[in-house]
Amino acid sequence: TNHLVWLRNDLRWRDNPALYYASVAAQAEQSNLAVIVTPTPAQWSEHNESDAKTGLRAGLVNRLATALAALGIPLHSLEAKTFDQLPEIISQFCLDNDIHNVWFNQDLPIHEQQRDKAVCERLQQHQINTHLQAEDLIVAQPVLSQQGTPFKVFTPFFKRWLTLLAQQDITPFADPEPQAEPLPFTPTSFTWEMPFREDLWPADQDTAKQKLWQFCHHKERHYQAGRDYPIEPATSTLSPYLALGALGPRQCLEAIFYTCDQEGKRWQDSVWLKELAWRDFYRQLMKHFPLLCMSHPFKAETNALIWRRNEAEFQAWCEGKTGFPIVDAAMRQLNQTGWMHNRLRMVAASFFTKLMFADWRRGEAYFMSKLIDGEFAANNGGWQWSASTGCDAAPYFRVFNPTRQSETYDKEGDFIRRFVPELAPLDAKSIHDPKPEQRKRCGYPAPIIDYKPARLAAIAAFDALKGK
Ligand code: FAD
Repeated sequence: TNHLVWLRNDLRWRDNPALYYASVAAQAEQSNLAVIVTPTPAQWSEHNESDAKTGLRAGLVNRLATALAALGIPLHSLEAKTFDQLPEIISQFCLDNDIHNVWFNQDLPIHEQQRDKAVCERLQQHQINTHLQAEDLIVAQPVLSQQGTPFKVFTPFFKRWLTLLAQQDITPFADPEPQAEPLPFTPTSFTWEMPFREDLWPADQDTAKQKLWQFCHHKERHYQAGRDYPIEPATSTLSPYLALGALGPRQCLEAIFYTCDQEGKRWQDSVWLKELAWRDFYRQLMKHFPLLCMSHPFKAETNALIWRRNEAEFQAWCEGKTGFPIVDAAMRQLNQTGWMHNRLRMVAASFFTKLMFADWRRGEAYFMSKLIDGEFAANNGGWQWSASTGCDAAPYFRVFNPTRQSETYDKEGDFIRRFVPELAPLDAKSIHDPKPEQRKRCGYPAPIIDYKPARLAAIAAFDALKGK
């Protein structure tokens, strides 16, 4: 009766509940433990997963396989095209290898839940036990109001979240025990492997852990002051690792609690921890409101909005050629690195949904197709926040002015200079909105949108929804 762990978006051997419990059970029964991953490249394309994320995933799988091999635990890659082939592939693997127990951590998006349900049903038909562990959330239990309903506003959610967190065990799950002599292993290259910026995000969970501790030791205390300035390396840039589960929630808690303790401050006051609460908030929303996974806005009345569809504007936005330097710098950062600073995600998404008045779902899909940290719940949450269609979203009449955002958060224009090099010669005053002759001289386009009327038109469109 061997045990199998099925890893998906939890590509780590540390702090992994399914791997930990399976390893304990296998040791107790003196049976064998194996691990599988199930790449589904066609399904990923359907979900708009980026090449960058796929590349990082391949690297993490190889690293994981190396680490597990050292513990005598084999990792097998069972490739399928789409999710619907997995019940057959996984059950056949179990039958071939005398496996009677399959362990995995829950995944929240609806397709993933349907996939897991189908696999569990098939395994149960073969009398194979399935053991589901909690999903990758900081607070694993449901965060509900006193009435037992999900929160639709972040602040009360956060209050309750902090209370539950104070009662929760936060010790990371132990690493699996070695089960045999080390196995020979050489990293393979997968057919679905893609290039990505490995210089920025090494595919190694130990590097991610180091980055986490370094961030907590040196940067966390300056996070609140620096986090909105894209030129500052003030945020953790851990999102790609969190999205693929190369870092576990309890590892983050361990580091942040330790740091707060060392600095004599309450962990409840950590602004960084609050950002991790946003991650939980959006993940829980997706779980409670599955319609979010089906391209529906949270606020149903916003279905009546008639978005504009202008292909030339869309292309200009994608390529970072809108003529708004901060928006273009943001989009080029995304295209070149697979990552975008949070302040800029808000600026770029607000530009798209309010000034271009383009359908947020198109912007959401483009982000997903480029982001190395693309994660359905956070991306959908961020887009619906920006479009004012979401729950606890930005009020619709607060339309970001890209030039003001630029002057405030990239005061000297250094971030623009880095990603829009043709504007590098301009001084800090003119770089945010160059004059027509400066644009001409630098070979930089005129603005594709006239800010003031576009802002008023967006507000009017939302105003018209009132009473609907
Ligand atoms: P830090 O500031 O160091 O924060 C730590 C971690 O907290 C992040 O790594 C992330 O896991 C989580 N986090 C922080 N802010 C948020 C937030 N607003 N919502 C949810 N989780 C958060 N984040 C993603 O991980 N994947 C996405 O696909 C994604 N798409 C977004 C789209 C839009 C339009 C917007 C406005 C935001 C999006 N975010 C997304 C949230 C946020 O921008 C990124 O998590 C953050 O920029 C990642 O950088 P960091 O790791 O340095 O974050």
